[in-house]
Amino acid sequence: MVKQIIKCTTRPTKVLIVEDSLTFAGILKRCIKSSLDVESLVFDDYASTEEYLKNNDCEFFAALLDINLPDASNGEIVDLVVANKIPSIVFTGELSDDLRDIMWSKRIVDYVPKENFGNIEHVINLVDRLRKNINTKVLVVDDSSTSRNLCRALLDVCNFQIIEAVNGQEALDLVNSDDEIRLVIADHYMPVMDGLTLVKEIRRKFSKSRLPIIGLSGVGGATTSAYFLKAGANDYIHKPFLTEEFYCRVSHNIENSEYISTIKKMSDNDYLTGIYNRRSFFKYGEKLFSQQQRSEATLVAAMIDIDEFKSFNDKYGHIIGDEVIKAVAESLNSRFRTGDVVSRFGGDEFCVLCGDMKPSEIQKVFDSVRDDIENKTIVVGEHEIFLTVSIGVCTKTMSSLDEMIEVADKMLYEAKNKGRNQVCYSD
Ligand code: GH3
Ligand code: MG
Repeated sequence: MVKQIIKCTTRPTKVLIVEDSLTFAGILKRCIKSSLDVESLVFDDYASTEEYLKNNDCEFFAALLDINLPDASNGEIVDLVVANKIPSIVFTGELSDDLRDIMWSKRIVDYVPKENFGNIEHVINLVDRLRKNINTKVLVVDDSSTSRNLCRALLDVCNFQIIEAVNGQEALDLVNSDDEIRLVIADHYMPVMDGLTLVKEIRRKFSKSRLPIIGLSGVGGATTSAYFLKAGANDYIHKPFLTEEFYCRVSHNIENSEYISTIKKMSDNDYLTGIYNRRSFFKYGEKLFSQQQRSEATLVAAMIDIDEFKSFNDKYGHIIGDEVIKAVAESLNSRFRTGDVVSRFGGDEFCVLCGDMKPSEIQKVFDSVRDDIENKTIVVGEHEIFLTVSIGVCTKTMSSLDEMIEVADKMLYEAKNKGRNQVCYSD
C-alpha cells in the first residue's frame, strides 16, 4: 500500500542513514554529529527502514542511502525514502551512465561514489545545505506553468521554500516586499515585464551578493546568456538543462551569497560582543550624520567607558573581564533604537550615535544609561559583579562626525576627572 504523505508541521531535525556496513554508517553518524551537531538514525536494511517510516513522520530533513542492501539490491530503498518526501543522497559503487540516469529520475539530491572517504566532507556539506534550505526562500519567475512546475519540483526535493511569479512586475513586487527571498530564478520572455528588465530593476536596489539571480531561458542561446549576465544576473542556465547542473548552480549562488554575508558580518561586527566595531561606527555613523544634516534633526554622540576596568581583569582574570564587556555591550544595544549606531570603539570603550533625539530627552536618556549599568548585577559563574561607567556626551550636531567624537571624548575625560560614575554634557 502506498503511504499517504502528511505535510509536516514541525521542523524535521534528524538525518536518516540506511547502510549495511555499520562501520561506514558509524563514521557518517559521528561526522554529522561533530560537524553539524545533528543526530542520525541508522538502519541496515530495507525492511527495518520501511517499518520505522510507517510509524514515524516528518523526523528527517535528509537521508543517506546505500542503494545496495542485503534485502533490496536494486535501489528500492531510494523509492521508499523519496516517497516519504525525505531528500535523499545516494551512495553508489561504480557509476555507469545508465545508473546515473536512473538515479536522477528518482528525484534524488545527489549521488556520491562510496569508494572515496574524501567524499564524506562533500556529504556533510550537502546535509548542511539541506538543513539550511528549510529556511531559504527561492523565487521562481516564469509565465509558463510547466517550466515553473519543473523548477518547483526540483527545488522541493532539496527542501527549499518556493514562491512563484508569472511575470517580472509580479516578481519585483515580491522582492520589494519580502526580504527573506535569497535567490531569484528568472525566465526571459514574459508578458508585462521581461526577465532582463526584471534583473536591471532588482539591481537598482539589491547587490549581486545580497540577492543572486539566475537567468533561465531556452531562447536566444549564448546571446541571451550574455545579456542576462551584463544586466546583472549572477548566472545563467540554458533550457533544457540537466538536473545536476541546475542543482550545482543553485547551490553555488546561494552559498556564495551566504559566504559574503558572513564575511561582511565578521568585518562589521566586533568579534567579542557582536555589536558594530570602530570601522562600522564610522561607516554607518557617516551615513546617519549626512541624513541628519539634510533633515536638520539633532544628532547626539556619546563615549561610554567602564570605570576602573583594569581592576576587574586583575581581580577576576581576562575571561570574566570579557563577559563584563559583553554584558555592557548587550545593555547598550538593547537600550538604544534600531537606527542608532552602537559600537565598541575599542577595549572597554563604547561609542553611540543617536539621531532624532529631542534636546529635552538627551539628559534623561544618558543619565538612565549610567543608572541602569550601576544598578545591574552581572553574574558570571559564581561571581556577582557590579560596575559603573563614565559617559561624555556631545549634545549638538557639529560640522563633522570626527568633531562630535572629539567633544564627546573631552566630556568623558571630564567625567573621569570628576570622580567617575557620572555623565558630562557639552554646552
Ligand atoms: P578608567 O576608569 O580610567 O577608564 O580605568 P580603566 O581601568 O578602565 O582604564 P583603561 O580604560 O585605561 O583600561 C582599559 C582596560 O581594558 C585595559 C585592558 O587590559 C582592558 N581590555 C581592553 N580590551 C579588553 C578585552 O577585550 N577583554 C578584557 N578582558 N580586557 C580588555
Ligand atoms: Mg576604562
